[in-house]
Amino acid sequence: MAALNYRIASELVREVERPKDARHYTIVCDACGARFEDDGSTLQCVNTHEPGLLRTEYEERTFKIDQRAEGLYRYRAWLPSIRNLSGSGRTVTYRSDALSRITELPNLWIAFNGYWPEKDAWLATSTFKELEAFTVLSRRPRKHDDVLVVASAGNTAAAFARACSLNNVHCLIVVPEFGLQNLQFSDLLNPCVKIVSIVGFTDYCDAMTLADRVSSVDGFLAEGGVRNIARRDGLGTTMLNAVEAIGRIPDYYFQAIGSGAGAIAVYEAAKRLIDDGGFGNNLPRLMLSQNLPFVPIYTSWKSRQRDLVKIDAEDGKKQIQQIAAHVLSNRKPPYSIKGGVFDVLNETEGDMLVADNIETLHASRLFEQAEGIDIDPASGVAFATLMKAVRYGQIEPDATVLLNITGGGRYRSWLDKKMIPARPDLLVDGSEITSDETLERIIGLFR
Ligand SMILES: [Zn+2]
Repeated sequence: MAALNYRIASELVREVERPKDARHYTIVCDACGARFEDDGSTLQCVNTHEPGLLRTEYEERTFKIDQRAEGLYRYRAWLPSIRNLSGSGRTVTYRSDALSRITELPNLWIAFNGYWPEKDAWLATSTFKELEAFTVLSRRPRKHDDVLVVASAGNTAAAFARACSLNNVHCLIVVPEFGLQNLQFSDLLNPCVKIVSIVGFTDYCDAMTLADRVSSVDGFLAEGGVRNIARRDGLGTTMLNAVEAIGRIPDYYFQAIGSGAGAIAVYEAAKRLIDDGGFGNNLPRLMLSQNLPFVPIYTSWKSRQRDLVKIDAEDGKKQIQQIAAHVLSNRKPPYSIKGGVFDVLNETEGDMLVADNIETLHASRLFEQAEGIDIDPASGVAFATLMKAVRYGQIEPDATVLLNITGGGRYRSWLDKKMIPARPDLLVDGSEITSDETLERIIGLFR
């Protein structure tokens, strides 16, 4: 910690003269070793080969914090951003006596992503998806005309809708019907943001299918999900914030996952911190969780196979309807891909855990009673699995443990602020997502 403070004091914001839009990082493809310059939106390698995730390699190898910067731009040395946008927030990491007593873990830290004024937590849509939205937008070139296309189960939609609205970025949000409830804002959305809701027996994967179709049309650009380096590095600031607070890399990291982009991001951020040398040499063990009965990553991991278990579309959707944490509902997560969830679980000697709805709701209530702030059911899943892991002796009592809380204070923000539910600009029936007419209607929203 002392080393970090010294660095902040002595090297505070060393501005480097650069031409506008010059980038302070290189893109690296671990699958073939290619290294290339970023154009601000690329999602895949310049060479043709099996799919793999690209990653960023920053010129700055030490962990630098810009204390003057707003929100997550505090960590901009390790963000693929060429400008700081207004309205961003960041994670707040703290220790809680009450939660330490409940879990019997004196070194439990909470990475809180949400709205909680007393803790100086100001994520307006209350989830860590805002970290990715602002980073994705500030990675893009200053001048661009394409409409950004974002598929989401709900929280990412809310984050991008707000960030694009504030910063006047043309954006198409595709969200299944159940995700609409998460789209409530304190201000009216800018008309540059259009929302398409898929109705009927649909889920996040249907949103991805439709978003992929629209992205293939000229003038539309796929945001890219986990393949977008900015999305992962933005999410990775949760680990940077935690290490800024704790002074070292935690031994364990608990998070509930739908796709697992946040977990991959935390792994990548931890590798950068290890390279720095001042925060420990060990990766945190990733203790990731899903909500029963929809647990495809858990099932695949427990059978120790790189291939994701086959999920029948109808069965998967039925299971998704039964889970309390609706956002943990990706039927096609980046599990098998090189650098994906399977690899980061392996490399960190991590594990997959599960919680059912009763355990989830109990854990959510317990957290709220202890802390005085509500949390998303996804965070209830993570907290429930943390308590079970302690009970089953999976965690040493003196371990430094980081619990990722997202969706914190959503109800609190709805009480504090008069929220306006977003209205979809277009409703598409689940049976119409592959029709040409649907495509025409969506394109028409931007004419
Ligand atoms: Zn490559």
